[in-house]
Amino acid sequence: MAVRGSPVGDGEPIEGGWLPMTHEPWMERGRCREVDPELFYPEHKGANATHAAYKNAVKICSLCEVRSQCYDFAWRNNEQFGIWGGHYALQIRRAKRRKERES
Ligand code: SF4
Repeated sequence: MAVRGSPVGDGEPIEGGWLPMTHEPWMERGRCREVDPELFYPEHKGANATHAAYKNAVKICSLCEVRSQCYDFAWRNNEQFGIWGGHYALQIRRAKRRKERES
């Protein structure tokens, strides 16, 4: 099992892909450092497992002190997979597209 050293990790392989190599200082304070990194990439599991994993991940994110930095990172980098700041990457990309259309 890979260890999620940060929301984006250190370039380690995980089921279904690789954690990116980007690293920012706030990532050292992410609560997800303490848990299985695959919890934050539920897209690769079945629908029921995905929902359960999402709920668990969001619970962890809700207690995380760097939640806004995490969300912002996914926003800036157009993250394709995973949970960032308590939201799916897909939700963040949709919000970004909505904002771009409005401006
Ligand atoms: S908000 Fe969630 S995914 Fe982001 S660093 Fe915190 S615990 Fe990790």
